[in-house]
Amino acid sequence: MTSGTPAAAAAFARSHLDFATYGAYGGATSCVEIEAADGAFMVCDMGSGLREFGVDAARRCAAGHPRTYHFFLSHMHWDHIMGFPFFGPAFDPGATIIVHSGHPDAEDALRRQQDEISFPVPFDWLRAKFEFVVHAVGEPFDAGGVTVTLIRQHHSHDSSGFHFVRDGRSVIYSTDSEHKLDNMESEAAFEAFFAGADLVICDTMYSLGDTVSLKQDWGHSSNIVAVDLCHAAGARRLALFHHEPSYSDADIQRMHAETVRYEELVREGRPALDVICAYDGLEISL
Ligand SMILES: [Zn+2]
Ligand SMILES: [Zn+2]
Repeated sequence: MTSGTPAAAAAFARSHLDFATYGAYGGATSCVEIEAADGAFMVCDMGSGLREFGVDAARRCAAGHPRTYHFFLSHMHWDHIMGFPFFGPAFDPGATIIVHSGHPDAEDALRRQQDEISFPVPFDWLRAKFEFVVHAVGEPFDAGGVTVTLIRQHHSHDSSGFHFVRDGRSVIYSTDSEHKLDNMESEAAFEAFFAGADLVICDTMYSLGDTVSLKQDWGHSSNIVAVDLCHAAGARRLALFHHEPSYSDADIQRMHAETVRYEELVREGRPALDVICAYDGLEISL
């Protein structure tokens, strides 16, 4: 690499600066792709990150990827569906879009945000074939060869967590979920749902201090609760997710470091839980 080039500058920044300084976590709202299905895309939530996924998916489809999309919607709050009007593949007449959720009003929510008052292109102008499937809690179903199960989570208008398993490897997507530590029955259900997971993508919007003092009943959880649940469930890796928008990059980095330290302190002979912190564009292999 020649010194003085942008690539050399980027390499220097990566090796000499901490993440919050050189990289930044980004600000896209919830949208996570899981690459596990036979010939189909699998995407959790349709937050603002969906626009960029759509661009990437179109590129992969041009190279031969099948044009079937399985979406898994945790709930219909705006930060989880706002990317959909900007999802290019919805205009592809050769695409099939299957929306899985625990909410019977998923289609309503997507249509409503494309009403003329909010967006110039109505839902009926989209050209992809759509299917909306409502799933019951605790009843496994197949999507592209992956077995998927829902759990109901405590959140305004309810939300769903998703358990994905294939060939003995499992991922949990559990965001917008407030864990009530005084409700042991509910927490036992989450321990069972997270059991032995290779990766838990978990709502850790607040620090524990915020959760117990200011933001109880705001429908989100803390980094501490997430570690405790993952330990109890014997999960292998935890991704801190759904960062509080008012936190700076430095705040998020500090919370990540504190979570890693907390995990070490309370590990008590268990195998280590690998704690990572989500950022826009993060890729993880299991
Ligand atoms: Zn929400
Ligand atoms: Zn949210």
